[in-house]
Amino acid sequence: MPLFDSHCHLDDKAFSKDLDGVIDRANRAGVTQMTTIGVDMDTSIRAVQIAESTPGVYATVGFHPHDARFCTEAALDELVQLAGRSSVRAWGEIGLDFNRMHSPRAVQEKWFVRQITISEQLALPVVFHERDSSGRLIEILKSDFSPGRTGVVHCFSGTADELQAYLELGLCIGVTGIVTMKKRGAPLRRLVSRIPDDRLLIETDAPYLVPAPERNRIRRNEPAFVVSVLEKLAAVRKDTVVHLAKTTRQNACRLFGIDEGPGNG
Ligand SMILES: [Zn+2]
Ligand SMILES: [Zn+2]
Repeated sequence: MPLFDSHCHLDDKAFSKDLDGVIDRANRAGVTQMTTIGVDMDTSIRAVQIAESTPGVYATVGFHPHDARFCTEAALDELVQLAGRSSVRAWGEIGLDFNRMHSPRAVQEKWFVRQITISEQLALPVVFHERDSSGRLIEILKSDFSPGRTGVVHCFSGTADELQAYLELGLCIGVTGIVTMKKRGAPLRRLVSRIPDDRLLIETDAPYLVPAPERNRIRRNEPAFVVSVLEKLAAVRKDTVVHLAKTTRQNACRLFGIDEGPGNG
């Protein structure tokens, strides 16, 4: 039962000492494919290096809203070059985060819109990050994200109306270990059954967001733990683990333009 962790940060310093072990544990847990996400110049370069040296790992490049204040046209030119590598399967993560405001709102919006345009020129799908933008991200998508384009709203934790808007925009929805958390996951658990089978992705967002079953014994999340996300989602959606594993993997492969390979139809 092969699984696809659609969003993790393997370049993170939390993994610098034992990345091989982390990948090995993922593979032994059935997590044979992972997309490692860039959030600025250095992490995007590192994501591509990891993807190119690790079977089953794919990369994205982009400037996260937190890092928007460091974005420049010259930096984006470099990322465009990097995006030409075959390991790069999407642009992102990009978006708006008005929760911690590491970059000013106007700066976030400027580089978000700019990166939407660039990703369209490159015909790449987009990985979106949204937190507390009060509908602003959806407003921008409605005006700047061309119909028919594809992408994923990763780590979805929004409202029913936001979910509906994302689905109408044709986007996939990424669910993290938040769905396993007793209190914090309650609103998400009420919504996940509204996500159609063919729009649902699972992810860890590792090293962040350790799922509840692992939380007591370990503080660092890793791709192997996407199994806990899968199991909780299957229970809440009244689906089987096997069916959900298959559909979420197919969706990730379709989004990232990956051949599903033999024997997994
Ligand atoms: Zn994110
Ligand atoms: Zn992320």
